Amino acid sequence: MSIVNTVLGPRDSASLGFTLSHEHILLSSAGIEDTFPEFIDKEFAIKEGIRQLSEAKSEGVETIIDLSTMDLGRNIQVIREVSEGSGVNVVVATGTWLDIPRSFANASPDDIAPLYIRELTEGIQGTETKAGVIKVANEPEVTDAGEIILRAAARAHRATGAPIYTHTMAKNRVGDRQVEIFIDENVDMNRVCIGHSNDSTDIGYLTGLMDKGVWLGLDRYPGQGVTWQERTKVLFDLIERGYGTRLMLSHDWSVYATMMTKQRLAERPLQNPDNYLFITRNVLPMLLELGADQEQIDDLMIHNPRHFWEGS
Ligand SMILES: [Zn+2]
Repeated sequence: MSIVNTVLGPRDSASLGFTLSHEHILLSSAGIEDTFPEFIDKEFAIKEGIRQLSEAKSEGVETIIDLSTMDLGRNIQVIREVSEGSGVNVVVATGTWLDIPRSFANASPDDIAPLYIRELTEGIQGTETKAGVIKVANEPEVTDAGEIILRAAARAHRATGAPIYTHTMAKNRVGDRQVEIFIDENVDMNRVCIGHSNDSTDIGYLTGLMDKGVWLGLDRYPGQGVTWQERTKVLFDLIERGYGTRLMLSHDWSVYATMMTKQRLAERPLQNPDNYLFITRNVLPMLLELGADQEQIDDLMIHNPRHFWEGS
């Protein structure tokens, strides 16, 4: 076992159970909460977050990793209330998403790594809540500023042992470049998950990454561009090729996001009424139909996330 930081305190990795590896609750932008709080309907995010995650819990979801960073308006108070109210464990992230602060673009990785390390070891936003994972993001490619963030994440990982979870543009094979940089930084590949990989159906790209030792996050469901059924066929193909113990599943869902238009926010629940339960209600039954067994599903949802935390 190892100890994993959740928003409500440290937990034994063996106790986290059925885990969704890449989700969100509230999404916004850096600084909005402090400056224009009326732009964020926090009460809605909390109430609806508790409702959706309570329902998810009643159908077996025990833990989510909320990969919202400061530039995604990460709000520890909201996450804490939703975790308390729903009973779902939430692991929170340090790191940086795509809105890299201009100030970071002119810094060195060694200027930024200590900031991540502090959030992993001391606390976030004046609370004692510690991050459990380091998030990085590169789209449509790894820019100069993006490389600074990747190297800072790598150094924070080496200093703390915390795992790294990435956002990629899979169709541009961004995962390949992320892995190159992590190898250059002597990161333990077994502690890296290359996310949004099920936006690609290129088996060569996906297995090539896993052959370098990383995990893959098939973490967009139902997703856009590639249908959820196609995503599930690729997933089953990867299981049949022997990669079923290197994959984690999730939705990249959020209860509420201030960067979405009002129309999109209204349409989302209609497009995915199952929200955090889409995988449970649709993907896992389809996997069983394709010929997967319950043990393989337990690997995806329970054992793999545990091994990702434990580095085993
Ligand atoms: Zn996300």
